[in-house]
Amino acid sequence: MRTWCTVDTDDLRHVPSHQGHPTRSKEEETLPDYSQRLQEGFRGFKQWMESNEIAVTVFVIADQCANSEFVSTVQDLVATFGERITIGCHGLTHRSWSAWSKDTEGFSRDLEQATTILKKHFPDSFRPWFRAPAGYISDWMAPILSQQAYTVDTSVNPSWLVRKKSSPSRAMVLKSMASNGILERQWKTRFSLPTCGPAQHIMGLRWNARQAWKGLPKPLGIEDLHCIEHPEHELTTVYWHILDHSRKNQQWLPPIKGV
Ligand SMILES: [Zn+2]
Repeated sequence: MRTWCTVDTDDLRHVPSHQGHPTRSKEEETLPDYSQRLQEGFRGFKQWMESNEIAVTVFVIADQCANSEFVSTVQDLVATFGERITIGCHGLTHRSWSAWSKDTEGFSRDLEQATTILKKHFPDSFRPWFRAPAGYISDWMAPILSQQAYTVDTSVNPSWLVRKKSSPSRAMVLKSMASNGILERQWKTRFSLPTCGPAQHIMGLRWNARQAWKGLPKPLGIEDLHCIEHPEHELTTVYWHILDHSRKNQQWLPPIKGV
């Protein structure tokens, strides 16, 4: 067993409390296209990458590419770390799809646009791998991913705590992914509790989450990247956010052993 390390590039303006969700999002002030916090996060992430040999998939929200400095930052990562960086799709605008009513046309249009943007800016690093914004995934999204040549989805958090994010149910999402030929890489849990993303920081979850990550199997290196698309390779999948690297004066590190 090996570990697939992934990070999401969400900026402050993308969190569900700010946008993309029918009930969680509240009107607030306009936030920058590319915040200082996220820029600090990228600096911390780059330092961490320099300290190890791990291959990391970066899930990018395509609307961030409207900012040329953001594009330069990610292109610099690719230029610096080469094949160690692969780019996946984290949506066009971070819309929480399964929290809204079914909208196959909207998702199809957004996915196509996002894919075009990501391929244009990161042609050698882009992979047809998808992560649903905020983990809101529906069974009807699978055929659209398949039509647009996606091979891997990593949106499902198999924790009972967030079971409502999969629509109409987690079992139906998994079934639909499988029948559409999309390989689902579910997120790491421990004692059926979340360990990824915010769980690394939320009181009540973080102790368990950190323990889980300290015991992770060896992360994938560039020679192992083929494993991600092949179901015969069982992987443990974890994700965190670039923004996390802005914590503690850019000294925050994912608690992954052997780094
Ligand atoms: Zn996100």
